[in-house]
Amino acid sequence: MAGFLRPKAEYDFVILGAGHAGLQAGLKAGLLNHTALLLDRGPKYSRSYYAPAMDNIPGFPDGISGHKLLDLQIAQVRRMARFTDYLTPVNLESVHREGAHFVTRFERLKARYSVRSRVLLLALGVVDRIPEVGGKIDAIFPWANFGIVDFCMICDGHTLPGRSIAVIGWEPLAVRTAVDLGHWGPSSVTLLTHGHPLLAESPTAEREELLLELERHHIPVRESAIVGFDGIKDKRLGVLFEDGHHEIFDKGFSALPWYSTHAEIARQLGARITPDGYVDSDEDGRVRSASDGSILPGLYVAGDQRDGWKQIPEAWASAERAVIHAWGFYLSEGGSPPDGPGPSPPP
Ligand SMILES: Cc1cc2nc3c(=O)[nH]c(=O)nc-3n(C[C@H](O)[C@H](O)[C@H](O)COP(=O)(O)OP(=O)(O)OC[C@H]3O[C@@H](n4cnc5c(N)ncnc54)[C@H](O)[C@@H]3O)c2cc1C
Repeated sequence: MAGFLRPKAEYDFVILGAGHAGLQAGLKAGLLNHTALLLDRGPKYSRSYYAPAMDNIPGFPDGISGHKLLDLQIAQVRRMARFTDYLTPVNLESVHREGAHFVTRFERLKARYSVRSRVLLLALGVVDRIPEVGGKIDAIFPWANFGIVDFCMICDGHTLPGRSIAVIGWEPLAVRTAVDLGHWGPSSVTLLTHGHPLLAESPTAEREELLLELERHHIPVRESAIVGFDGIKDKRLGVLFEDGHHEIFDKGFSALPWYSTHAEIARQLGARITPDGYVDSDEDGRVRSASDGSILPGLYVAGDQRDGWKQIPEAWASAERAVIHAWGFYLSEGGSPPDGPGPSPPP
């Protein structure tokens, strides 16, 4: 069974993270007759795992859940088992460079492994920050699982027309999200700062500009802390506030900065990290160095971890592009040495 296989000592590609980007990269590597090892904590850590309905996935006119789409991608990768090994769950321990290779160390089912690869692809995604209620993150999950609370404006903004929306957040991102959601024509947008002073960390000029935007778009602000939610039977978001107030919205929207962008491994390998925490790369996903912006040989990034749009078609495209580039540049016969100019990527 693929889940209990022992990894080989060396692969052409080691791919860290097997969400939508990593799985596509593992599939493509196999289709190009190259070996790949996919290492993942588990599908439930993919950002889409709790997306109940996604409407922009080609081939699914009635939409598809993130969970189901991951299952389909995993099934497709498993058919590539001659080339691509998919290991989960694993604990990544370290990655370092040894000459022209990367050495990745990880633990799986209490055994420790070390594998070498010519190419390393980072596809670890990012992690949403979940609003805590009473110090715990669980309170909002049932509403998120039913798609009553959303996290991604460009994914789910189209579900908002004519509906009353509560945006949860207290930083500039929350104000900008509340204003931008107006694009889809909700009946109202209300900003809930959940006990935090609004824009407390923002410089005065930015704060004044954003407060003016809220006023211009008639967006009220509730600053009382949220102590609980109700209304799920009616598929609505009822919010109970600390000050005793209760308000019902058609939908909620969480607009908090990322919990994690998984930048540590990239940073250790010398990658440049953008101010938002993403791995900086060129259009083929080749990672740029922190020291002088030059390309770090053999190191690629794809999907949400990359500085770009956080969408599944983008995750797929960036993964395909990185693998095809690495094939032409590092792995195909006659390919250039790591630091050379390399042939053009094959069509
Ligand atoms: C609620 C919600 C709704 C969404 N709806 C849509 C939509 O409708 N359409 C759309 O296109 N996009 C949607 N998205 C965005 C989409 O989920 C992401 O763009 C996509 O998941 C990015 O793919 P990825 O492979 O880069 O990252 P992920 O899919 O997040 O995968 C990252 C993988 O890395 C693994 N990983 C992380 N850390 C480690 C570690 N230390 N060791 C080993 N493995 C690790 C995780 O287990 C995970 O499998 C939505 C997101 C959310 C949160």
